[in-house]
Amino acid sequence: MPGPEDNYGYPPEVRVIELGKKGKPIKLEITCCEPDCENKRIVKVQDYFQVKRCRDCQSKYFSEHRRELAKFSRQRKKAEKAAAANELNQG
Ligand SMILES: [Zn+2]
Repeated sequence: MPGPEDNYGYPPEVRVIELGKKGKPIKLEITCCEPDCENKRIVKVQDYFQVKRCRDCQSKYFSEHRRELAKFSRQRKKAEKAAAANELNQG
């Protein structure tokens, strides 16, 4: 079963809408990755990796997956703790 952090849905279509002085992109326009949604959303480059949906779908996604997401982050914390403990034991 894929975790919530996997690339769920489609990768968003991306268009650069603002370039910085050195030609680096600053703002991007993404098309929502939900297959039945064509909404666009403007994101900063540094937020691009975590934004795949328009605001509507994002909040819908969160309310539908809140439990899963919480479970997932608990599991991850546990795993991080275990890894840290392992490192201590080995060191
Ligand atoms: Zn959407």
